[in-house]
Amino acid sequence: MIFLMGAAIGSFLNVVIFRLPRRESLVYPRSRCLSCGEELGVIDLVPVLSYLGLRGRCRHCRRSYSPRYMLVEAFTGLAAVGALQLFGPTLKAPLLFIVFCCLVVVFFIDLDHYIIPDETVAIIAAVGIVLDLATLLSGGTGSALVFNERLSVGTGYEVLLPKSLVGMAMGAGLFVVIAFVSERVFKRPGMGWGDVKLAGAMGAILGPGYQFFTFFIISVIVGAVVGVICMAFGRCGRRDYIPFGPMLAVAAVLVLYFGSAVTPVVMSRFVIQ
Ligand SMILES: [Zn+2]
Repeated sequence: MIFLMGAAIGSFLNVVIFRLPRRESLVYPRSRCLSCGEELGVIDLVPVLSYLGLRGRCRHCRRSYSPRYMLVEAFTGLAAVGALQLFGPTLKAPLLFIVFCCLVVVFFIDLDHYIIPDETVAIIAAVGIVLDLATLLSGGTGSALVFNERLSVGTGYEVLLPKSLVGMAMGAGLFVVIAFVSERVFKRPGMGWGDVKLAGAMGAILGPGYQFFTFFIISVIVGAVVGVICMAFGRCGRRDYIPFGPMLAVAAVLVLYFGSAVTPVVMSRFVIQ
């Protein structure tokens, strides 16, 4: 049941990926075949199964569709099941699934159009703040950072700062520095504002700690691997632009879903000796 509901949401994400960059309505009109323009009926819109049943072709003009649509549906279905399995019936499960959906949209829109829509970034940041508030309201101070400064004996002060806001500032700040440095060193923009904003939003969820650095390191590794593979197959040259948003999205999903397993491994390999 959860898989099918997730896959149906994945089907909607395909619409968002196509229409959001074109600033078209997300709900109207109904989806059409891009080749023959025939409106898709209910039977064509059953997630995953329609694609398999029709062998990836349009029922009217027989033109084949990219398997990408079916893969987005299947992955989103799996992510819905995974969220419930990993986080249980908590607030975290639906919220992190929503973040997953945003990241899928970021992945493909940045790949296709080299932009990261602000809407997706805003939703991710909002989830970070909501999770923080939920922890604070339930009595825990786990999501607040305490800064302690002792001036002299008996005098001092303590500042409580919400983890999400500190993480957001740190994530965005780190990427601003990278953007600035890479522009100076390589004399061309290495990172866009969309990447900076997405990193800030992820900082709001992951907080300014090990999890964020794990996310950062994985995204750089994924980027390097993709770049090398891309060049090896002659698909892109040394100076071609490869969008960084998809790497950030992959790293984000890994850390959000498998953070407690991945973080110690990455940290022990790259940071802590
Ligand atoms: Zn068609």
